[in-house]
Amino acid sequence: MDNNATTKVAREAVEEMMPYLSDLYGNPSSMHSFGGQVGKEIVQARQRVASLIGCSADEIIFTSCGTESDNTALRGSLATAGNKRKIITTRVEHPAVLGTCRELEHHGYTIVEIGVDKQGRVDLDELRKCIDDDTAVVSIMYANNETGVIFPIDKIASIVREKGVTFHTDAVQAVGKIRIDLAKSNIDLLSISGHKLHAPKGVGVLYVRKGTRISPFMLGGHQESGRRAGTENVPGIVALGKACQLAREHIDQEKTSVKKLRDRLEKKILASCPDCFVNGDRENRLPNTSNISFEYIEGEAILLLLNKFGICASSGSACTSGSLEPSHVLRAMGVPFTAAHGSIRFSLSRYNTEQEVDFVAEKLPGIVNQLRRLSPFVKN
Ligand code: PLP
Repeated sequence: MDNNATTKVAREAVEEMMPYLSDLYGNPSSMHSFGGQVGKEIVQARQRVASLIGCSADEIIFTSCGTESDNTALRGSLATAGNKRKIITTRVEHPAVLGTCRELEHHGYTIVEIGVDKQGRVDLDELRKCIDDDTAVVSIMYANNETGVIFPIDKIASIVREKGVTFHTDAVQAVGKIRIDLAKSNIDLLSISGHKLHAPKGVGVLYVRKGTRISPFMLGGHQESGRRAGTENVPGIVALGKACQLAREHIDQEKTSVKKLRDRLEKKILASCPDCFVNGDRENRLPNTSNISFEYIEGEAILLLLNKFGICASSGSACTSGSLEPSHVLRAMGVPFTAAHGSIRFSLSRYNTEQEVDFVAEKLPGIVNQLRRLSPFVKN
């Protein structure tokens, strides 16, 4: 139940990558045919990624992860933006974007973080007003990793395009879960992470629309047509290609069977646990994600007790040096402090089953009652 953290690698992807971890270990940049045959596999993987998101293969750059793709998009576009010093983003981005922006602030850039409403939705008028002649890049995520809320990215991309500014979207949580067609969109840069869509960790993608000016972030060899140096993670790339092909075949299953499982889980929890509610816009949400706040109790305590039953989920707070900080996403949405502390994210995949969902729904009410009996916030 923690697939937004990472996913099971598809068996088919493991099978395709295995030869490149053993006998076929050539370097794709080599002149000889031993390396050359490996290079052909990268060509195929690039095509498969491109087919999933509706772009051409030469617009795909392989990276090491979603974080590298986000960093490359931001730093790479700033490097070509001349004197422009403004970056527009939102308050609910992943740290890969927010952390990068905040670091850039120390180097003289101005960061504008657009807020969200109670449902986690961005205000497009506010975005329009913020974009000016000093704006170098706008970076707004496709779908939120904590709540699953999907932003109207094609609309946002068009607003940004009208102003002649580069637009990046962190689509790490969206790719493979909802249909994305870049041929019909004005997105310039888009980040993907392999391990969120049933490929292994250590491989990602940055889509760069033809004509978008960005400087390489990693310098060195001439891999990826000089756009990202470093010898390619061949097994990871081969597996990612296969995972993208599978994602394309299974994309309808996300909004049918995976959504059905998520809805079943949510319905059962809401019916059996009093004082809990779903966070985020329930209409525009990833089909696999449910973020639920349980009033008066700590999310981390719920997680520990779920873990005893072998159930994996995530909480909206991070335990740092003894103090529990509630999630920046829920705080930006104005979720009350106690409810933000008691939030749990359940995130499913096509590999989850109805039995698993029912098992979680069966165990959770007992856990919630147990913790509420101990809670100083509940009057017994
Ligand atoms: N962006 C979002 C929205 C994410 O959810 C994550 C990972 O959780 C990342 C970026 C970072 O991806 P990676 O783990 O591949 O660096």
